[in-house]
Amino acid sequence: MVVPPAAGGAVLACAVLLWIGSLFYPSARPVSLYYGRPLKGSVIVLDPGHGGIDSGSHYEERILEKDIVLAVGLELRRLLNQAGATVIMTRERDEDTSKYIPGDPASRYQRDMHGRLKVINESGADLFLSLHLNSFSDPTVRGAIAFYSPGRPENKILAETIQKQVNPLMASDPKPGQTVHSSPKEGSYLLINEANIPGIILEMGFMTSPIDREIFTEPCNQGKLAQAIFLGIVEYIYTKA
Ligand SMILES: [Zn+2]
Repeated sequence: MVVPPAAGGAVLACAVLLWIGSLFYPSARPVSLYYGRPLKGSVIVLDPGHGGIDSGSHYEERILEKDIVLAVGLELRRLLNQAGATVIMTRERDEDTSKYIPGDPASRYQRDMHGRLKVINESGADLFLSLHLNSFSDPTVRGAIAFYSPGRPENKILAETIQKQVNPLMASDPKPGQTVHSSPKEGSYLLINEANIPGIILEMGFMTSPIDREIFTEPCNQGKLAQAIFLGIVEYIYTKA
């Protein structure tokens, strides 16, 4: 397990430090996005991918996608709650969501995917985010990719907004010989195709990239990732309003 029991506290401690830092080094973003409860009245679904017997991608059997995406998702929930949003999690522990769709155990994967879709489509939320980590045969490929369903303009806007915020962390310092993803892409996946609310699948980085692994396995960076996604959500909701 890459996320030890104390990791939640470490992410929180890092988030507090980041917040204090933002007071002394304010960015060009409107200050109003940082203070008060800018997301009061908003409802957001967070879907940390995989869980339970489904680890997702992994590295050396000890760094598991399901743990990383849950750690980032729980910290993101904390930030969203703090900003006044109501957050619905498809899972908040190490389990999948197949329990929401009773049926043949052999169809667990399909029931899990439809379980997530059920939570999203019954939520009445403003948007959803499905959190994942990518993998590829070439370890020099790195960076985040926000996938959106073609033909749904609001999803593309959400993908662009989140991608822009995540890039400074996940696409920083590109070196010759690396392929660094930094643009949203069209994708055809059940959740983004069939959800009845805007949403994206965010591949936060590549499990197969040593550079990305170094970033997203560090609890402080998990806090930074959550904060970047949080700012993207705030920007999207304010742009849409
Ligand atoms: Zn995944």
